[in-house]
Amino acid sequence: MIGLAVGLLVIAGCGAAVVYAFLAPTSTIFRPVLFRGPAESGSVVLTFDDGPTSPFTEQILDILAERKVPATFFLCGKNVERHPEIARRIVREGHTVGNHTYSHPLLYLRTRKFLAGEIDHTQAIIEKVTGVHPSFFRPPYGTRWFGLMPILKARGLTMVMWSAAGYDWKYRTEAIVKATTREMRSGSVVLLHDGHERQPPEKVDQSSTVRALSAIIDAAMDKGLKFVPIEEFTPEAVE
Ligand SMILES: [Zn+2]
Repeated sequence: MIGLAVGLLVIAGCGAAVVYAFLAPTSTIFRPVLFRGPAESGSVVLTFDDGPTSPFTEQILDILAERKVPATFFLCGKNVERHPEIARRIVREGHTVGNHTYSHPLLYLRTRKFLAGEIDHTQAIIEKVTGVHPSFFRPPYGTRWFGLMPILKARGLTMVMWSAAGYDWKYRTEAIVKATTREMRSGSVVLLHDGHERQPPEKVDQSSTVRALSAIIDAAMDKGLKFVPIEEFTPEAVE
């Protein structure tokens, strides 16, 4: 009986470890991964996923320009095809563009061929449209799978996760500001969205994120933090 209880505990423990390894944005089981910068840097990196979308990406760009804040946009290839002019504007205004796959699939149980296809197709589209060859990759839903790291390494892509999130795929404005500012500290990589990949394009509404953005920038400045380009943070290397 005790043996069974211990066995079940071990299984539950292993299960929890596996869930953490695959799901937690701060898990380093798949390395190297960039999910935060140096704690003493006094810097924060702002990231937006799932775009470009209209008018939300443009409204976010307006705010970033007004506040002189740099950001990184993890673009989906299919959305770059929909809005090439917005992708070009992101680059023109000095922000970083990263690869967020072509169609935003869950990456679990995928073949290397599938993973490479999603990544390569998006690299090619972003490069063709903006002239920039991305150096950063963020997996959809933060999902990672075997075979992904060698594919990224071969292409010189750094895996980027996050250490502070606005949960703007489910929260409204006030809750987004609260969640983000609670987790945001020196060295944070902040996750927000200018698109919503579980919605069809005509149903995407990121107005809550747009409305939250100024307050998030204010909160960071109140904490004495400055926004920096993602290139200033380095990934946690394999030991
Ligand atoms: Zn996404």
